[in-house]
Amino acid sequence: MMSRVYAIANQKGGVGKTTTAVNLAACVAEAGYSTLLVDVDPQANATVGLGLPRSASPGLYDVLIGQASAEEALAGSCVRGLSVLPAGEGLAGADVELPHLGSFERRLREELSAIRERFDYVLLDCPPSLGPLAVNALVAADRVIVPVQTEYFALEGLAGLLETLALVQRELNPRLTVAGMLLTMQDSRTRLGRDVEREIREHFPDLVFDTVIPRNVRVGEAPSYGLPVIHHDPHSAGAEAYFELAKELAGR
Ligand code: ADP
Ligand code: MG
Repeated sequence: MMSRVYAIANQKGGVGKTTTAVNLAACVAEAGYSTLLVDVDPQANATVGLGLPRSASPGLYDVLIGQASAEEALAGSCVRGLSVLPAGEGLAGADVELPHLGSFERRLREELSAIRERFDYVLLDCPPSLGPLAVNALVAADRVIVPVQTEYFALEGLAGLLETLALVQRELNPRLTVAGMLLTMQDSRTRLGRDVEREIREHFPDLVFDTVIPRNVRVGEAPSYGLPVIHHDPHSAGAEAYFELAKELAGR
């Protein structure tokens, strides 16, 4: 199987990017695919949510500035079959430092090229911005998954995000395509939840995953145990939804 690199991206914060990156990666790994999760967010929520230390060293920061190889940075960070390249200390400054390095947009892509073929799936958890780190992820990726929180202002910002993706595709990464938008934190018991889902599906036909991630307490609390929800509570609605998403993704 050819390795595939997915960026989980949306410039809005709190829409379920990290939750999706961690849980989708865990499901794909559980299904037997060799899988790597790269934490591209200085907040390091994916790193910490998987029970790894916030200050893991070397981390992605060291890789991006050329102080360590990707190989060195993922050594030792394996969580139940899922390899993790942690954010590492210093990543918060990367958006300022990176532009001073030559062809900085391609640094992540170049560093990953040495290891990507070892994995069936590589998932990149992006920061809530469209700065240099996010651009690095979009240049390194083949496909983008856009988590969209199922709430009243869901559509806001999506058109701009799609324009940015098109720009990156045109200027920096012709292979980039949108895998799909993923509705997250859906509350199907409320009228609002159902209305927003219908509106987004009408607005972006063919672009929205069939799978919808419900709002689920187990999903929200799993990171505090340092676990993906499929290991925290495998029978929860959240775990089932992420398994379903992994299947849908493999079938595309
Ligand atoms: P982002 O990475 O886009 O900023 P997160 O994945 O960190 O967003 O999610 C924001 C918050 O919402 C976190 O506290 C997370 O635990 C919670 N959350 C995300 N998805 C769900 C869900 N399906 N059910 C309940 N809580 C969720
Ligand atoms: Mg996040």
